[in-house]
Amino acid sequence: MRTTKQSIHILPEEIASKIAAGEVIQRPASVVKECVENSVDADAKHIVIRIKDSGKTYMQIADDGSGISSTDITVAFERHATSKIRTYDDLEQIRTLGFRGEALASIAAVAQVEIRSRIIESEVGTVLKIEGGPKQSPEPTGMEHGTTITVKNLFYNTPARRNFLKTNATEFKHILETVQRAALANPEIAFTLTSDDSTVFSLGKSDLHTRIQELFGEELGEGLMECNEETDYLTVYGFLAKPEYSRRTRNEQFLFLNRRYIINRSINHAVYRAYEHLLIKGSYPFYVLFIDVDPSRIDVNIHPSKLEAKFDDERSVYGIITTIVRKTLARHDMMPSFTMIGQGEAVEQGLMNRERSSSTLHMLRVNPNTGEIIEEENAERESSPNLHLFRPDHYKSKGKEIESDIPGKIPEESYRQDRSTESGLIYQLHKKYILAQIRSGLMIIDQHVAHERILYERALKRFTSQNPSSQQLLFPETLELGHADVELVKEIQPLLQLLGFDLKIFSKNTIVIEGIPADVRPGYEHNILQKVLDEYRSNLDRQIDVRDNLAKSFACKTAIKSGDPLTDEEMRDLIDQLFATDMPYVCPHGRPVVIKLTVDELDKKFGRT
Ligand code: ADP
Ligand code: MG
Repeated sequence: MRTTKQSIHILPEEIASKIAAGEVIQRPASVVKECVENSVDADAKHIVIRIKDSGKTYMQIADDGSGISSTDITVAFERHATSKIRTYDDLEQIRTLGFRGEALASIAAVAQVEIRSRIIESEVGTVLKIEGGPKQSPEPTGMEHGTTITVKNLFYNTPARRNFLKTNATEFKHILETVQRAALANPEIAFTLTSDDSTVFSLGKSDLHTRIQELFGEELGEGLMECNEETDYLTVYGFLAKPEYSRRTRNEQFLFLNRRYIINRSINHAVYRAYEHLLIKGSYPFYVLFIDVDPSRIDVNIHPSKLEAKFDDERSVYGIITTIVRKTLARHDMMPSFTMIGQGEAVEQGLMNRERSSSTLHMLRVNPNTGEIIEEENAERESSPNLHLFRPDHYKSKGKEIESDIPGKIPEESYRQDRSTESGLIYQLHKKYILAQIRSGLMIIDQHVAHERILYERALKRFTSQNPSSQQLLFPETLELGHADVELVKEIQPLLQLLGFDLKIFSKNTIVIEGIPADVRPGYEHNILQKVLDEYRSNLDRQIDVRDNLAKSFACKTAIKSGDPLTDEEMRDLIDQLFATDMPYVCPHGRPVVIKLTVDELDKKFGRT
């Protein structure tokens, strides 16, 4: 025991209330949160928040809500004074943000407070100052109806807590986030925030979409997908941002339960799950989602901050949220199950039914001994490195050369038969972009990054499949490398081998390449290993994982380039394969692969409504 034992005694009210205040008021932002919530509960139409020194010396929250009568005003500052519930049962049906009756008492315990309030029925308002010491008596004052609370010198009487305050930048950020959340939760209320006499924002009464746009920018506004679903258990509405608008942090995920901002990792995860394959590693979807449930099915009274909430059935909520988010993504073609117009045939396969994807990567394998042609539908099944592998599109574009390489002739029809998507509009723009008509409008694909995505995923699979697929070179290539490069090759040789590079280290600075990966397009063979190694080395300082680096370097150097002409067939193949990948919408470096322009957007641009 560090202290001598004392007799048990009741703490003086002043100390007790300072301790209790600590639970509710931790920093300036807590004052803003509590007072803004009171204004919302009072049905304010406009809430004005003014702060100085990031709230450390001055905060004022003014509203035009219902006000407090002169008889109630002193009571409002008593601990557990609330007008919002009367009985414990009321808690079950709680619809207001406040109910614990602690905020005003807590603020008054640790700061110098002045409250001015007028109810609409009264001609004059009341002003009351509470600055430690004995309570002063309320005085009449002339004012508009509503309530204005001014809070000065937070923690003036608790120096230890004052010393815990962070820098102005940090405390400001907390206040900004607090007001943003309130503004998102209540788009029908106008909000003004000023800091050291300059306006941070001034938001008029509006709708949720506009509010999000005002707070987070026009651009994001364009990438929002509306969500609105109702089940027996709950209602979900709000906006989800398209995957390409994802954020680097989780900070912009706004979840409101019965209009109260909450943090709930399970629901956050449920949303994330639905997006899963659409996101680049380390990025998070932006969303503003409102969940409304019968208040009796949740408990928000877990902590005085009321930031956490519990559902009586977390599991089904998780499932419902994932399903709803997926549905929204699908409705906006984010998980495309759309068809090429003109043919009514599914060209792109939806991510949702990716498992049964008819990824028509037809591989024509030619047995070099017999000249027999084997057609395979699935790239995964290709295996024996002693077989030459040709993609039909290679054959088509480079038909002559290949034909002379192999005994026997490849009948063009053998792969043509399956490819009945001849019609359906598709167009190559400036030998760079593929334009394809889809149900909702126009899809624009960057041919290089699309192919990069395909090759990148294929390379990663090869590393784990132990099934290299190599095309033997007729004339082995001898490569003179620096000593360092040879060392590098030695280091990653097993992976190069799995990728399909069949090579021998000949001497200290010479290697001989006998085979290259089957994925290397005709015309791209020359110096391909050297190019991949250069790219690999240039990525080293970014310290990415060895496999990831190699897969990226390989994909980057082997992919179709901008400037390569493509036939219709090749474009269709590329689209097929792209939508069979895990993340068709972003390239391995995080650039977008697909952009969609919907007919709706075009109509808007042309002023058709
Ligand atoms: P709670 O919000 O949990 O009821 P508070 O301590 O925050 O507790 O507020 C106490 C009471 O003061 C509220 O129940 C409400 O009646 C009144 N009140 C506080 N702020 C306002 C306001 N801005 N407008 C109208 N009434 C208010
Ligand atoms: Mg309150």
